[in-house]
Amino acid sequence: MDNQYFGEYAALLEEAGKFHGDICAGIQIGTRMTMAGLKRIGISDPKGADRKKLIVFVEIDRCCTDAIMALTGCKPGKRTMKIRDYGKMAATFINLESGKAVRVATRRDRKVSADPSSENPDFSGVAEEDLFSITDVEVPLRPEDLPGKPLRRVPCALCGESIMDGRETEHQGQTLCTPCFEKKNYYCVII
Ligand SMILES: [Zn+2]
Ligand SMILES: [Zn+2]
Repeated sequence: MDNQYFGEYAALLEEAGKFHGDICAGIQIGTRMTMAGLKRIGISDPKGADRKKLIVFVEIDRCCTDAIMALTGCKPGKRTMKIRDYGKMAATFINLESGKAVRVATRRDRKVSADPSSENPDFSGVAEEDLFSITDVEVPLRPEDLPGKPLRRVPCALCGESIMDGRETEHQGQTLCTPCFEKKNYYCVII
């Protein structure tokens, strides 16, 4: 890393660490991931002037997501962070204004500069291209996926609970919520 980049990294790392509680490997990766993603989609002030231009998809419910949340200001409750929990250290950064989007994923073959057996390796010496694979992508977003008031709300024909924002499924003439439609894989069991 050059000096200017490292100075910026150190400050962001501290901010992400404060939000998360410590500076672990995931916070380091998430900080670098955010820097790499935002740079490529042309966003420099995600929490200020650019705050209405950015949506992020994250693919894991671990430390690196906290770093991305802290540094981009994107939040699930603001509908600017979408969590797709695939258990993968990857995130997609979308510039809504230009339409430019990139997916940043950790490389399987990534090299670490510090002792890799260490519990908390230091990735600061690892070049961005060695840390991540970065791909241009297109992300189809529906009006129902964007920030703003709920566009619609319908009841599920089976459980009666309300479904917002077009997350329902039409199945054999019935409007169903996802768990009723799938009839399995619900995260809780009624006792
Ligand atoms: Zn952590
Ligand atoms: Zn239902």
